[in-house]
Amino acid sequence: MTIPLKDQEWESLFEEAIKSLSELIRFKTVNPPGNEKPAADYLAEILSRNGIEPKVIESAPGRGNVIARLKGTGERPPILLDGHLDVVSAEPESEWKHPPFSGKIADGYIWGRGALDMKQTVIANLMALLVLKRSGMKLKRDLIFAAVADEEAGCKYGAEFLVENHPDLIKAEYGLGEIGGFCMEMSGKRIYPIEVAEKGVCWLRVRAKGEPGHGSIPAPQSAVIKLAAAVKILGEKKLPYHLSEPVRVFIIRLAESLGGIKGLMLKRLLSPSLADFIIDRMLPDKKLAKSFWAMLHNTVNPTVIRAGDKTNVVPSEATCELDGRILPGQTPEDLLREVKENIGDGYELEFIKRMPAASQNPDDPIMKIFEKHLKAHDPAAIVVPNLIMGFTNGSHYSRLGIKYFGFSPLKLKPGESFQELFHGFNERVSLDGYKFGLRVFLETVSELVTDF
Ligand SMILES: [Zn+2]
Repeated sequence: MTIPLKDQEWESLFEEAIKSLSELIRFKTVNPPGNEKPAADYLAEILSRNGIEPKVIESAPGRGNVIARLKGTGERPPILLDGHLDVVSAEPESEWKHPPFSGKIADGYIWGRGALDMKQTVIANLMALLVLKRSGMKLKRDLIFAAVADEEAGCKYGAEFLVENHPDLIKAEYGLGEIGGFCMEMSGKRIYPIEVAEKGVCWLRVRAKGEPGHGSIPAPQSAVIKLAAAVKILGEKKLPYHLSEPVRVFIIRLAESLGGIKGLMLKRLLSPSLADFIIDRMLPDKKLAKSFWAMLHNTVNPTVIRAGDKTNVVPSEATCELDGRILPGQTPEDLLREVKENIGDGYELEFIKRMPAASQNPDDPIMKIFEKHLKAHDPAAIVVPNLIMGFTNGSHYSRLGIKYFGFSPLKLKPGESFQELFHGFNERVSLDGYKFGLRVFLETVSELVTDF
């Protein structure tokens, strides 16, 4: 069922959303330390004022999470609308055209840290509850609103805390969240990727040991030199190719939509014997090539190296931490084995952090609903399922069996890149693009809770 609003009413709803978004950006929720509580209280106050009872849960001093529920008949299981209140640093602020915590509206944009990631989604989620409540429409499903702390630093005080301590407040069949539903221009076509999967985390520590000694005597077998050899190998050798289901569907859909030579080349990525060659040699856009690489392989990046603390002492031990990421269908043990096979014997390997990949069916029926409403407002929209390399709240929610999809629609202007604005200076959302996204989103959610 669609929301019974006239064009003029949509306009005033949009005005209301923009005002709230601007106000929400003004809460400086840079994580660390986060300090999301005042922002959570702000949203709770709006919910209460609209007759929806909020719960503000402090997971640690200052770390606020706000949850609310619009009741349905219970005929179908709930839908969770997920958002995080924290943002990444905006330093140095002098790089910004408008101060990052001003929520300034200028030049057709709303500016500020969090405008895109992801306070715009938090407000869209809020508006969904408000508009459905006001409409008096009968819902088959409960609609749950969760705006949480700490996503940018690993979710410990937000999604992870709720999953472990308050699962009943957020349990749902589907969760809708970030990183999806915005458009990207490719070969003159507008592609809307929707996140259906997130890579898992597998951080590793590699330890090399060797004879200690005095720095004045050469030690070609020292721990530091052994470790350096392993790091060099990890930089040069590639881990094996793996084709996961969400990536297979993504490549096929994208190839079919683009057609021509590009389409043919993309389809070659499905072949284990051709993919690495195509990525290395045939993709002129190196950024894109790296993204395709990460979609088709587990990866490890050496990030923290430790050894010795005196210039004239050869240390007996050297360690390197690896940021490892695993594809859906792969386990931390698989990655450990791949790293071992590459660097050879003589190293101790241990896990630092493990989090499984989260993956939904790329052909889940909900995808058709997303597509229908995007196409209603952008008939040229091409919708494809997508795997993201990082993790979001979705990886935690999926532990409760919630089917999490990144769907936060937004129309970007030609030449605007989501990846560049996300966490970048001058983060902003165009008013036109947000207006488009908000209407698509509200119509989608309305159908999901009444007819799906
Ligand atoms: Zn985010």
